[in-house]
Amino acid sequence: MTRFIDVHSLVRLVDETGVPQFLTALADALRDDFMRWREFDKKARVASHSHLGVIELMPVADDGAYAFKYVNGHPHNTQVGLPTVMAFGVLAEVDTGYPVLLSELTLTTALRTAATSAMAAKALARPDSRSLALIGNGSQSEFQALAFHALLGIEEVRVYDIDPHATDKLVRHLAACTPLEIVRARSVAEAVRGADIVTTVTAYQGRATVLTPDMIEPGMHINAVGGDSPGKTELHPGVLGKARVFVEYEPQTRVEGEIQQVAADFPVQELWRVLLGEVPGRESPAQVTLFDSVGFALEDYTALRYIQRIAMERGIGRQIALVPELDDPKDLFGLTASGRRRAVLRRAA
Ligand code: NAD
Repeated sequence: MTRFIDVHSLVRLVDETGVPQFLTALADALRDDFMRWREFDKKARVASHSHLGVIELMPVADDGAYAFKYVNGHPHNTQVGLPTVMAFGVLAEVDTGYPVLLSELTLTTALRTAATSAMAAKALARPDSRSLALIGNGSQSEFQALAFHALLGIEEVRVYDIDPHATDKLVRHLAACTPLEIVRARSVAEAVRGADIVTTVTAYQGRATVLTPDMIEPGMHINAVGGDSPGKTELHPGVLGKARVFVEYEPQTRVEGEIQQVAADFPVQELWRVLLGEVPGRESPAQVTLFDSVGFALEDYTALRYIQRIAMERGIGRQIALVPELDDPKDLFGLTASGRRRAVLRRAA
């Protein structure tokens, strides 16, 4: 049987754990898996584009487990009452192909993206970073703020969105569950001015320039999350020229990330090499670092493994017959009405 974690089960797991604790545990697991990078069979995700968005399949495997995520990105969805990003995923045994876990991954994507952002920033941002500018205050934003608070000790968050209702919602949630000092900015430039870390997590189906080169200050760390598809970017290309740039999986990010705007030989470093100490991260306190995040399948593998572990420990989720359980593994037909009739007739004879 396959363990099924629906939205309610995942919410239970998160609530029982606590969001900051969930993010911290996930960030630790992500770091461990990124440091096993060479053990994974990796490929860029498969994307189907339409004029309103994208639907993607994200596979990855190591020797023991295979994972994939189905995820979409439709920035106009919120106008028809749907989230921009929705996802689910599967974990399967490599030896048999048996699917052991089917899980919601919409809430999980926000958690794993925030945990990845904070894990990267821990390796790249100045250790004395205390303020975060958070541009884009939609579904992902609370998780970003909480991850940076829990993992980096961020104390102040400057928030800005073109939609004031999104900012109202973010401020309300953060005020209720964190001691963070929250500053509402009137523009991106105001939010970013003097910030140690800048997260851009906006949704726009096109080439946006949320950050421009004049906003970038020495020593900043930029966590660019929202540009994650061909033709969908958030940064003015001049911002890239001011920074040392880090990516998840270069072949995918060259197509989907902010670096799609610059030459194919523009220098970037994969994050896992920094974590393993193979290449330097930040080289000086004044250097600008930029994590060009698009979301990589390994992050969902890690999240699915973590969910599987804590769901089993706590007996959360239910067992479903996603694939047939057969007395005779060669008798699939026996499941059908005709097959069952034959078996009854055989027994009666
Ligand atoms: P959302 O639609 O819930 O929120 C996006 C917010 O951005 C909205 O409130 C919108 O008003 C705001 N916005 C748009 N343009 C803006 C601008 N110029 N300045 C300020 N605010 C602006 O979407 P979400 O689920 O929060 O996702 C945000 C983005 O992150 C999406 O583009 C999504 O594709 C991306 N994403 C990336 C990853 C990753 O791993 N890198 C993971 C999940 C989501």
